[in-house]
Order: sequence, then structure tokens, then C-alpha cells
Amino acid sequence: MNIEKSKELFLVAEKVIPGGVNSPVRAFKSVGCSPLFIKESKGSKIIDVDGNEYIDYVGSWGPMIVGNAHPKVQERVIKALEKGSSFGAPTEMEIELAQKIIDIVPSVEMVRMVNSGTEATMSAIRLARGVTGRDKIIKFNGCYHGHADYLLASAGSGLATLSIPGTPGVTAKNVSDTLIAELNNRESVEALFNQHGKDIAALIIEPVVGNAGCIPPVDGFLEFLREITEKNGTIFIFDEVMTGFRVSQGGAQTYYNIKPDLSCFGKVIGGGLPVGAYGGKKEIMENIAPVGNVYQAGTLSGNPLAMAAGIATLEILAEEGAYTKLEENSKKLCEGVLKQFNNAGYNFTGTRVGSMFSVFFTEEKVTDFTSALTSDTKKFSRYFQNMLENKVYIAPSQFEAGFLSLAHSDEDIEKTIEAVSNSLKGI
Ligand SMILES: *Cc1c(COP(=O)(O)O)cnc(C)c1O
Repeated sequence: MNIEKSKELFLVAEKVIPGGVNSPVRAFKSVGCSPLFIKESKGSKIIDVDGNEYIDYVGSWGPMIVGNAHPKVQERVIKALEKGSSFGAPTEMEIELAQKIIDIVPSVEMVRMVNSGTEATMSAIRLARGVTGRDKIIKFNGCYHGHADYLLASAGSGLATLSIPGTPGVTAKNVSDTLIAELNNRESVEALFNQHGKDIAALIIEPVVGNAGCIPPVDGFLEFLREITEKNGTIFIFDEVMTGFRVSQGGAQTYYNIKPDLSCFGKVIGGGLPVGAYGGKKEIMENIAPVGNVYQAGTLSGNPLAMAAGIATLEILAEEGAYTKLEENSKKLCEGVLKQFNNAGYNFTGTRVGSMFSVFFTEEKVTDFTSALTSDTKKFSRYFQNMLENKVYIAPSQFEAGFLSLAHSDEDIEKTIEAVSNSLKGI
């Protein structure tokens, strides 16, 4: 495979951008090769600067659920751009996207737009602290909620991929109010509530974990969290930045029928443009300035181009059969892929919720971050490189989920299964 141009660009990029990338997981560092520079994308494919075309299961890490460069999304964005790219004043499109989220996500009565998933979780936690007057929060080992200081404790994929235990620059004080529980482990949560119950402002979770690879909740765990947070007056936050409009139209909360107090969104609702949002019960949301006194702001929040892309994306997803198609194709893909693993003698753990999935290179059942870490990442690296050779682009880390889009065809799926079969030889 010729990736000379990508390699050249990477050498130049490293001189002007730290590590040559604007987000660490893009660097391919853990899989021992240089990253592909992408020239363009279309439907289920992305094309690198050397002209290689790959079937894409990264989907910009989640947002591209209707497929890359979807004509309807492009059309909306271009139309919006012609009228101006930012006004810093309210627009009708902000109401439209907010209304769509409220109509579709059961627990959301009001929503505030921000510019990234990181801002969404940060703001939701500030709001929870402001409303409860409490300081502490609980997060789970292996969950990633963006790069806010106090959320970078035990934060899964990016850090795990690069073997960074925590990160310099985050002070002990920053994380001193962050309590860490273990996924799918009731005792670990109970112990924290027993010790700190009345000091805990919020409990935040990825309802289906995506940032340690895809780890679904075990039966009853989310219900348990709903109960224990309710009992302790703690605000229950679903970080649906990855799962929102992904695992089902109404996200994980519809899929599992749980009503969190606050929800965070990003990725899909921006249709590939920088967007985040947080929302929930009116009585909580009305504590945000200018109605309430919990301050949160953003120069480009609710940006017209981003709103246009989000609205178009949610419209396509609202078409009949969209989620059935995502479900059926993802099932077919994952079953086919796991069969190739079995044929090659690997009884590895496959996980999937809707169109989000992983194969962990371990025979252990994966229910938390510790079990995810039993994966053979050396084998994964070789597999990853072979997949690239076979023109399939998956995330360059064991600890990331894969995503299918509406643009993936039966032919794409068959080709992928064949690529897996080829890629498993001699790993
Ligand atoms: C991607 C992600 C974030 C961070 O979103 P950014 O837009 O990258 O800041 C937060 N939470 C979850 C669950 C995510 O997957």
C-alpha cells in the first residue's frame, strides 16, 4: 500500500503541531504506523491523500451516522453559509434543533447548545454543583467525558492507548472532588455514597461506554444508579455524547428506558460540525444564566452552520426505517466479523449496542475497564495494520468503539468480513 504522501505530510505536521495531530488518538502511535492524512470522504468511504479508498468505521469518531459528506447535510450547510457564518445573536435554527432534541429525547425539556462534548459535560457538572450546592462528583473508571481537568481521572481510551495514567497539568486539587467507581459494580458505587452521600452533586456515566471500547451496562445497573442517585439527592447525568441519536433515536435513555436528570450530547447532533449540548428537566435547566445564576456562555454556541448540519442529520435519521437499518446491518457485520475470528481460532469478546461495537482481543468477558485491559493490544496493532492494507479503516486503538452509518451497504459489509478474514492471518 502506498502511503508516501501521508508520511511526508506527517513529518511536516510534526514540526508545526505537537505530535502532528490536533487530537492524540489520531496519531496511530500505539499501532506503530504513521497516520493517514485524509483528502475527502463520501458515503461509507474515506480517501487518503495518496488516493487509497477505505471503508470507514471511524465516522469521525461517531458524528457521521448518516454517512460521510451526505448531500442533504451539505446542502443545508451551504445554504446557511450563504446567509452568514455567525451572528452572535439568536436564530430560528437554534430553536429548531433544540425542539428536535426535546421531542425525541424523553428526559430533555430544555437544552443549551455549546461547541463540543467537553463543554457539554463540563457545563452539566457545573450546573449540578450549582443547583445542589455540593462539590463532589462520581465518574466511572474507563469513561471519558471530554478533557476538563476534573474529568480526566481514569478517563479511558486516549490516556490508556498512550499509557498515560493521569495527566500533568491537572492538579491534585482539580481531581480531589472526583470520586471513581467501577463500571457495572454496585458495591463500588454504594461504598462512595455511604462515605460521601450528601456531598455528591452528580454522578456521570457513559450509559453505553464507548471510550474504553464498547462496554454495555449489565442488566439492572443503570436502574440501580437511577435509584441510588434519587435517594441521595444527586443529579444523575447521562453522557450521551457518543450514544445520543446513535444506539437508538432517543439514545441510551430510550434504549434502556431510564430517565436521567441531565443529558449531554455532541457528535451526531452536530452532523460533523463542532457542537455539544446539555439538557434535562426544566427546573434544573432554568438555573442557568440568564434565568438563573449558574454562568455558562459561548461566542459561537448555536452557530448557524453547526445547527444546519445537526438539523439535516436528525431529519435523515427521523426517516422511517433508519434505525432498523442501522441495527440490522450492524448485527450482520458483527456476527460476520466474529465468525471470522472464531474460524481463525480466536474466541474473542464482541460487544455491540445498535450501531456501536467492539471486538476485544481477549477471551475474558468485558464488563469494565479492568477486563477491557486484558486485551492483547500487540495482536490488535497487527490486525489494525492488516485491516488498513485490506482497505478498511477502523479506530487505531483497542479502546475505541466502531461505528456503522446509513451509507454502509451490504457490499461494504461483505468486503469488511473478507478483510477481517485476511487480516487475522498470522497476527
Ligand atoms: C467524544 C466524547 C466526549 C467529548 O466530546 P468532544 O466533542 O470531543 O469534546 C465526551 N463524552 C463522550 C462520551 C464522548 O464520546
